[in-house]
Amino acid sequence: MKGEGGDRDGDEALDYDALARRYAEERAKRLRPDAVRQYQGLEGAFADFDTDPNARQDFDRKPVERDADVLIIGGGYGGLLTAAQLRKRDVGDIVVVEKGADFGGTWYWNRYPGIRCDVESYIYVPLLEETGFVPSERYAKGAEIQQQCRLIAEKFGLYRDALFQTLARTVTWSDAAQRWIVTTDRGDTVRARFVVAATGLYSSPKLPGIPGIETFEGPSFHTSRWDYGFTGGDADGELTGLADKAVGIIGTGSTGIQCVPPVARSARHLYLFQRTPASVDVRGNRPTDEEWFRSQEPGWQRERMMNFTQWTSGLPQAVDLVADSMTDLFREKSLSAGIAMAPDERERAEIAKMERVRQRVDAIVQDRATAEALKPYFHYFCKRPGFSDNYLQVFNRPNVTLVDTAGRGVEQVTRRGLVVAGEEYALDCIIYATGFDFMTSFTQESGLVVTGRGGRALDEKWSNGAHTLFGMQTREFPNLFVLSIVQAGTSINYLHTADAQSVYMAELITHCLDQDIATVEPTQEAEAAWVDQCVALSADRLAFFEKCTPSYFNFEGARPREFELNSPYGGGPLAYFEALEECIEGGFSDRLELRR
Ligand code: NDP
Repeated sequence: MKGEGGDRDGDEALDYDALARRYAEERAKRLRPDAVRQYQGLEGAFADFDTDPNARQDFDRKPVERDADVLIIGGGYGGLLTAAQLRKRDVGDIVVVEKGADFGGTWYWNRYPGIRCDVESYIYVPLLEETGFVPSERYAKGAEIQQQCRLIAEKFGLYRDALFQTLARTVTWSDAAQRWIVTTDRGDTVRARFVVAATGLYSSPKLPGIPGIETFEGPSFHTSRWDYGFTGGDADGELTGLADKAVGIIGTGSTGIQCVPPVARSARHLYLFQRTPASVDVRGNRPTDEEWFRSQEPGWQRERMMNFTQWTSGLPQAVDLVADSMTDLFREKSLSAGIAMAPDERERAEIAKMERVRQRVDAIVQDRATAEALKPYFHYFCKRPGFSDNYLQVFNRPNVTLVDTAGRGVEQVTRRGLVVAGEEYALDCIIYATGFDFMTSFTQESGLVVTGRGGRALDEKWSNGAHTLFGMQTREFPNLFVLSIVQAGTSINYLHTADAQSVYMAELITHCLDQDIATVEPTQEAEAAWVDQCVALSADRLAFFEKCTPSYFNFEGARPREFELNSPYGGGPLAYFEALEECIEGGFSDRLELRR
């Protein structure tokens, strides 16, 4: 097979040893002693980067003082799914505290041009059967995905008690009241029986610690705070404000490859600053066939989600319902056995896959030197795989320059622009597509100060990494749930994991409310056993990531002690879902201490 998809027949001829050496060299070029410390958050000197272009700046309201059965921190999909599952079980008294001015979470903040989901929308966008929403395309635009968030909130009556443009600050357990006392930056106090911290996986944007970053005199912003006031246009592109501008984008991850094409079409000139090339495979987006969509039988969405997670967990099924570039990887015989495969076999399969991605670059990009610079040399799963049918094509445009930094990154930011290899590129605007803090520290990423029984700080309990049952609950912090993928089994489709977690939480909370159970927390033994299991099962993953090029997946190539504990559950999503279901079916008491 030849063409855009690469040459599968040529895999046998690959020099695997030479490529493995090249991967190791490329990794070595990118390792830095400051690892995750090379980045900084949008605070302190960079607080200006954190203004919300979609919020009312004059928003004001009186502080709220009230009780609630459940307080949910975060109005993204994690919080919405949990609230929806609770409402389905007739839990009425729910308050959502949300930093943004509306529901949406990731999809509220990220409105950059070109934004879409990278997992098929029919399995990514949850509760489609409940709201009747039909995504217009297979990989839906961000605005549609946020629209579904609003529909869920409306359908389940969540607007009435939502506190928007509000940051939860302290979450403190009161043994006397048997409640969490939650305070916010607007002076609110909510006394809640249960707290769900659904603060998101990608909610803490980061900027690179490039010397001089504060000196640039033109506009600059992070992709999750896109400034349409400056660029003009909207998420569909046509950024009319850039027609006479030289724009610099730093970052070629999943966000970079989505926002580069619309900026390239609109700007006078685009300079894309690349440290590591992305792997970019075929996307194949297409409009939704409404007839097909409406002909689906009830329960179809969960079935489709499960089918995708089974395939992408290395468990081939009779039928591949999604059948896209993502499941295609696992349909290839070599990779479908990947999860259980011997490490060297898996390595060869991934090298072969990446070779086809490199061949695709050659098939599309005309300038040879640019094509060479765009070829990724790392194992396919070291980073989240990218898919696009218009990213590589932009490098054939005369108004686009790839500034490859040979793995070193941008050297300096000046008043006028960016410096690479001693050369200054004069720019009217700098856009940082540089990602988010990820699985580093829950308290740091969420900004919450959580204090449990006896004044125990969560920060302190998790100072060497998370200690949880199912990634959601932790002893000494009764009635608290944290929604993340740390110590949780994660599907490539994160919304499948969030769906399973929301059902678990809703079942447990409803059980407690119905049975007058005042507090619930993991038993000592259950928590220790889950942590031990997570550590034992993380060995393969850690060994794999030790060979990977640096990224947020592997703490930028460092191996801090927390890595073992702050990893996803190594048994995979299917075993994780089973453990949750077993716990629900067993009435919870095997692993949890339930007190009246
Ligand atoms: P990433 O962390 O994946 O990418 C950050 C980029 O910034 C990398 O290319 C990185 O280079 C580059 N970078 C950082 N510092 C420098 C520097 N000093 N000089 C030059 N380049 C630098 O962030 P993204 O926002 O792209 O993606 C984060 C995650 O969000 C994704 O992995 C995905 O899970 C999710 N996402 C999902 C989407 C969807 O569903 N549609 C869309 C977008 C994101 P290097 O690679 O060398 O570190």
